[in-house]
Amino acid sequence: MSRPVIISCAITGPVAGKADNPALPVTPAEQIESTHEAFEAGATIVHLHVRDDQGRPTGDIDRFAQVLEGVRAHCPGIIVEFATGGRGEQSPDPVRLLALKPDLATLTPGSVNFPGEIFANAPSAIEHLAGTMLDTGIKPVLQVFDLAMLYNIRALADQGLLREPMQVQFVLGIPNALPARRQVLDFMISELRDLCPAAVWFATGVGRHQDTVVEWALFLGGHIRTGLEDTLRIDRNRMAASNAELVARAANRCMEYGARAATPAESRAILGLPPLPQAA
Ligand code: ZN
Repeated sequence: MSRPVIISCAITGPVAGKADNPALPVTPAEQIESTHEAFEAGATIVHLHVRDDQGRPTGDIDRFAQVLEGVRAHCPGIIVEFATGGRGEQSPDPVRLLALKPDLATLTPGSVNFPGEIFANAPSAIEHLAGTMLDTGIKPVLQVFDLAMLYNIRALADQGLLREPMQVQFVLGIPNALPARRQVLDFMISELRDLCPAAVWFATGVGRHQDTVVEWALFLGGHIRTGLEDTLRIDRNRMAASNAELVARAANRCMEYGARAATPAESRAILGLPPLPQAA
């Protein structure tokens, strides 16, 4: 039987705007519709940042709640992942955010330079967020933007702050961070298998690297993330397709590698999330 591959879709992100691509979903209604289309095309995880009425990134908890409710109503079984990062006032209050009970939330185990800014995650803040996730039962998606983060995951697990199976998301191709080089991913996967053998991993390549990294992840037995957030992150002049088209492209690529897009129930089982509620 073909291998079920989880497709995560990063629908909006914190960087691009409508000027970069009119198909970018920004309002809650657009985000719910775009997620529904991506879900129908085979995505089972939605990675979510929200925007304010002016289209700017915001940490507004009510916006997260609104999109969460709409997405769950329209996409039965979908796994919702909240992005916890943000700059200053744009950062959601993590305790209030996790109280909304998404299925997953991002945790970045280290700091890294992005183009024009530092994505700062102090050790104390990382441990606090990991502890809050553990207490609230929200599974962390451990985002790896640089090599040291991989080893920090092991250290957090050794402190009892992470539960198995861990979910690791490699992001390649952001300038100043990990380059989209096959040898880099090969090395990290080999280290991950050694350090955290039960971990479930995803990879994404930003900008023009997206299709290439999807292929590497399929070849190496991982899961994949696609979506307009990643496509538009660097090559902003490139006209990307809609989220659903990117997911459909990834799902087709799965079949070329003898795999297929995982169902919501399969995705939940692979990630160790509670099964879908049965209809009464
Ligand atoms: Zn994101």
